[in-house]
Amino acid sequence: MVLAELGRKITSALKSLSNATIIDENALNSMLTEVCRALLEADVNIQLVSQLRKNVRSVIDFDEMAAGLNKRKMIQTAVFKELVKLVDPGVKAWTPTKGKKNVVMFVGLQGSGKTTTCTKLAYHYMKKGWKSCLVCADTFRAGAFDQLKQNATKARIPFYGSYTEVDPVVIAADGVEKFKKEGFEIIVVDTSGRHKQEDSLFEEMLQVSNAVNPDNIVFVMDATIGQACESQASAFKSKVDVASVIITKLDGHAKGGGALSAVAATKSPIIFIGTGEHIDDFEQFKTTPFVSKLLGMGDIHGLIDKVNELNLEENEELINKLKHGEFTLRDMYEQFQNIMKMGPFSQIMGMIPGLGSDFMTKGSEQESMARLKRLMTIMDSMTDEELDSKEGSKLFTRQNGRINRVAKGSGVSAKEVQELMTQYGKFAQMVKKMGGIKGLFKGGDMAKNVNPAQMSRLNQSIARAMDPRILHQIGGMGGLQNMMKQFQQSAGGGGLPGMGGMGGMGGGGGGGGGK
Ligand code: GDP
Ligand code: MG
Repeated sequence: MVLAELGRKITSALKSLSNATIIDENALNSMLTEVCRALLEADVNIQLVSQLRKNVRSVIDFDEMAAGLNKRKMIQTAVFKELVKLVDPGVKAWTPTKGKKNVVMFVGLQGSGKTTTCTKLAYHYMKKGWKSCLVCADTFRAGAFDQLKQNATKARIPFYGSYTEVDPVVIAADGVEKFKKEGFEIIVVDTSGRHKQEDSLFEEMLQVSNAVNPDNIVFVMDATIGQACESQASAFKSKVDVASVIITKLDGHAKGGGALSAVAATKSPIIFIGTGEHIDDFEQFKTTPFVSKLLGMGDIHGLIDKVNELNLEENEELINKLKHGEFTLRDMYEQFQNIMKMGPFSQIMGMIPGLGSDFMTKGSEQESMARLKRLMTIMDSMTDEELDSKEGSKLFTRQNGRINRVAKGSGVSAKEVQELMTQYGKFAQMVKKMGGIKGLFKGGDMAKNVNPAQMSRLNQSIARAMDPRILHQIGGMGGLQNMMKQFQQSAGGGGLPGMGGMGGMGGGGGGGGGK
């Protein structure tokens, strides 16, 4: 999770307010001090931080505040709004038009992550069903075309480039023309960078830009340079018509607050952020959901998007089964498949209200993925009868030979197969509990249908299943899949009952993401 440390600190500061017996100037000040310290530690510009403090102070007037007003909530909401402002340039970001030939040109210094990010962007749209492609107009760096070619081939994205042509302008123009003729919708043009901002770089950028006439120029910025982002972004903006920014390398280091706020301060809308070297380490950036996720309050709309990408036709059938408390090994297998398709866990987890910003680290994520794959391999050695048995694992406990057969077939020990059965048992139990919750599967607004107390008991039991870790995630997902239909109907209204991660803000904060 991006800026997990910052999220944790701010959340804890806001919580301290919930725990305070009296909400007065003192409580407000000490909370603000804590929030500001956290922001400064994340490298956010000191002026922006002091402005945030002033703004919050100015909307909270204890003398004027009528008795009975929920002061905690007002203060927390004010802080939330100010945090959003910090990363919001107040300018609408460019978005491509479906069915049109959208040309997107990338600019930025060498090493900022342009080539990697070009592939991520093309892949992002390809996954959503757009016809995407890549053009390599970097003739400056040795091996640039090979790098792009490799990335593109791996992701199965059509690409264009040349080993012999030395003029980037010619390559860019030819590539874009070719792909336009072929009806591509997202044509991403990668350009070269230099180590420093210099005239030759800006000159080349302008020529390529004139040749391909891009609909959007994306400036790629390396987050690790912190507050220096602001001046670099301004420099590029003054030379070319930068319409959007992508900030890369926001993984790991907690200092990303500098880059995000500095770039927003130049009135450049950030459209995506890069959170790793892998093609999936890429997140759409929207200000309110970002802050909401940062504070562990989830992003229901982002979640719906993700789930929609999956086209879960089988969902209807599954929901029906769950209503009757049925859950076979094959159902579990299919859930695993869906989780794998959705991409990095940590991204998904951050979107679920209440699951917290620091839910998972990268290392454990990879472990979980590997573990999931292993479980699926074991299930691959099961027969249809076993996978579809309504009795679930009983078939195996009755006939021990089955365990040994599966173990042999999948090359694992019998103990591992038994462990899988134990997990399945726990998972199935949880799913059955969900089936028992009245209203969960009824149409309409879930917030109204489901008893919050019941929901929160379910969440607790999911949380208790934390170990082994994977079960927890799947627990969340199992619930998730079934709740999607409801979410779609209520369109994120109010967040998940009982899942509000923050005492004082409850589900209301999550719902704020939709406004
Ligand atoms: P370019 O010179 O601007 O084209 O930059 P590249 O795309 O070649 O990237 C430079 C280096 O940064 C490569 O090693 C990438 O793997 C790495 N990189 C790019 N984006 C990210 C990111 O979001 N996170 C991390 N950790 N590394 C990244
Ligand atoms: Mg490059």
